[in-house]
Amino acid sequence: MANTKVSIALAGNPNSGKTTIFNSVTGARQHVGNYPGVTVEKREGFRRYQDKELLIVDLPGTYSLTAHSLDELVARNFIIKDKPDVIVDILDASNLERNLYLAVQLLELERPMVVALNMTDVAESMGTKIDGQVLSRKLGVAVVRTVGNRHNGIDKLLAATVKVAEEKTQKPFIINYGDAVEGKIAEISALLAEERHNLHFPLRWLAIKLLENDPEIRNTVQALPGGARVATVVAAARESLQATFETDPELAIANLRYQFVGSLCQDVIVSKRDGWLTTSDKVDRILTNRLLGLPVFLGLMWLLFNMVFTIGAYPQEWLEEGVAAIGTYAGLYMPAGDLKSLVVDGIIGGVGGVIVFLPNILLLFLGIAVLEDSGYMARAAFIMDKIMHSVGLHGKSFIPLLLGFGCSVPAIMGTRSLENPRDRLVTILVTPLMSCSARLPVYTLLIAAFFSEGMAGTVLFSIYVLGIVLAVIMARVFRSVLFKGESEPFVMELPPYRVPTLQSICMHMWERSVLYLKKAGTIILAVSILVWFMVNYPSDVNYSKDYQELIAQAEAGFSQQVAEQVGTPLNIAAVEDHVPLQTVITDLSTINEEFEEQAEGLEEDSPELAALTTAKEIKLQEVQAANTELYPWAMRYLELKTENEEQVEHLQKEADGEKLAQSYAGQLGKFIEPVIRPLGFDWRSGIGLIAAFTAKEVLVSTMGTIYNVGEADEGSVALQQALANDSSFTPLVAYSLMVFVLIYSPCLAALAVIKRESNSWKWPLFATVYTTTLAWIMSFLVYQIGSLLGY
Ligand code: GDP
Ligand code: MG
Repeated sequence: MANTKVSIALAGNPNSGKTTIFNSVTGARQHVGNYPGVTVEKREGFRRYQDKELLIVDLPGTYSLTAHSLDELVARNFIIKDKPDVIVDILDASNLERNLYLAVQLLELERPMVVALNMTDVAESMGTKIDGQVLSRKLGVAVVRTVGNRHNGIDKLLAATVKVAEEKTQKPFIINYGDAVEGKIAEISALLAEERHNLHFPLRWLAIKLLENDPEIRNTVQALPGGARVATVVAAARESLQATFETDPELAIANLRYQFVGSLCQDVIVSKRDGWLTTSDKVDRILTNRLLGLPVFLGLMWLLFNMVFTIGAYPQEWLEEGVAAIGTYAGLYMPAGDLKSLVVDGIIGGVGGVIVFLPNILLLFLGIAVLEDSGYMARAAFIMDKIMHSVGLHGKSFIPLLLGFGCSVPAIMGTRSLENPRDRLVTILVTPLMSCSARLPVYTLLIAAFFSEGMAGTVLFSIYVLGIVLAVIMARVFRSVLFKGESEPFVMELPPYRVPTLQSICMHMWERSVLYLKKAGTIILAVSILVWFMVNYPSDVNYSKDYQELIAQAEAGFSQQVAEQVGTPLNIAAVEDHVPLQTVITDLSTINEEFEEQAEGLEEDSPELAALTTAKEIKLQEVQAANTELYPWAMRYLELKTENEEQVEHLQKEADGEKLAQSYAGQLGKFIEPVIRPLGFDWRSGIGLIAAFTAKEVLVSTMGTIYNVGEADEGSVALQQALANDSSFTPLVAYSLMVFVLIYSPCLAALAVIKRESNSWKWPLFATVYTTTLAWIMSFLVYQIGSLLGY
């Protein structure tokens, strides 16, 4: 068999059921990428059919084939340049007229085509009957009825498609645009034919597009030898058409096309009930109601938001524990040293920190997929559009911005629902100004250390509000400076409500997670290694004290004290080898350890803690009763041991602090100190800010290392105290630092996603530069004005 491979392009309006049919045909044999050079998603799938291997591409859904939108350009260029063997145009039978408008434009591309008349169930329930045979005759292509979500008619569709591929015929399809336009089309086609350019495009189509002043085609033709001549003829033709129709030729041509489609519809639609309200219409009376629309929408958003971050917190915690367990496990099998530290702290810690966002992303896309597939998203955008437009954003920007309070990563991915690339970029750029939950630990720490309890809420609120205000201002600035030009008007029809299919939702979530893990994972991996290196090197540190010697001395002192205070009175030479005493010591430490484990995270004066303490006391008394004689000595031994451990730990932290100060990260902190001095920060905050570039919450743990309090979280009293005692830190500095943390560079995960979503390094770089500059200016103002006011 010569022709065993058949390439098929699925085209159609958004929501006509393309993806449903694509999934039904290809099953799991598909993958998603981007069209080369643009961020428009490209889904490809395979299917064996009889003796043929079908390669199917799901084109972006469009209403038309102009050059005004990226999706439309991608769709038509794919058909023209990649020349799929067959185009399958999926029509929504319940909305025939608008769907046929695209169909005739596809036919004008003069490629073999098959029409799938989808959603015939919906059409019938609305009382619309379509005569497929008449439609087939009028368009000159095969027409197959399908109900995509029930897999009806898919086999017939494939059979018709393969048959068309084998025949390789395409009956010419011509809309008669009337004498005036046809004359110009003939003139320009003839001229183009004469120039004998080796273009992929059908000549008639080229001529029509030139008359429509299609920017892409105009530029293509102008670049040809003889292009100038064509351009002159086209300009004259357009002028004459302008005079004839008293309107722009492109509008006139679109109108003629609509007229053609309108009369086509009259011919093929057999019956139609009028004035009949669908269930969708009834539901819409409530959901898009002027009074109820907004509260319902906000309620749904609140639910989504909570689902993503509340339900997501559980699997996130499991993943965090899992990552920690993997780290521990890997640590067990590796000798201590640089390699272990790199693998455990650098790679597993860093990459793990990204993977833990996966549950949030899955839940978010579950929610978005349901909202989108059900048809509600279109309504939400419609409801929010007025408000968002007033700040230069699109109605659909609202959801990502709201999600930004939880985490920028899923929020930025959520901008995919915005079709217009400009709206999308503006939204992506301002989303990081919404204060994400990773910044909260930083605020909590600083507020606890420097502000009274009464002030805490107000301070925190002011930071969040500042973020929102800045986002609004920046959105307007970007709109008027970077993304000038007409802002996308809100043209979007409201698709009927539908019950989403499980398959489509699962596919959606699966694709998102694979993309996320693949792309964000690789970038994060690289930077995690870099940061690890900067914090751990150079390793030849000039310590101000000989810590190793000091630790050895402490250990020796401990042994001596044990011998003097426990060994001598008990008259035993080697306390460590005295089995009865050691047994008591082990019992006591087990009790203490158990208590500490269970008490972890409990409130200081909670009844649970009180109960635990009592239980511990009872256990201790039991041990005491059984070993009246040895008990006090065992206690004494444990006291000494704790004291010694604290001493060693303190020395270790001091050494770590010195090492960090001399590391590349520390040097960098000192290097940037002059720049951040005017904001009130010293080199230590500098290191923290640099490290927190990876993820904002890292600031807390880094400050812990710097202030030698070891492992620290935002609840760490030791760290709060250390900060409060640092004379260079004042409430004003703390506030300035919070402002800086709020605004400056999005975290690495967010940057990685910006890179992915914008498909260029330019935008993550720009986001870093603009936010950091803005952060500097705002912190500068806060600190300097605050200082002047005497704070
Ligand atoms: P696309 O935007 O063209 O890719 O459209 P989708 O494939 O995402 O379909 C949009 C919605 O229509 C989904 O909820 C599908 O389950 C639903 N759908 C697809 N085909 C049919 C059909 O023939 N009848 C009905 N009632 N619903 C359908
Ligand atoms: Mg789709």
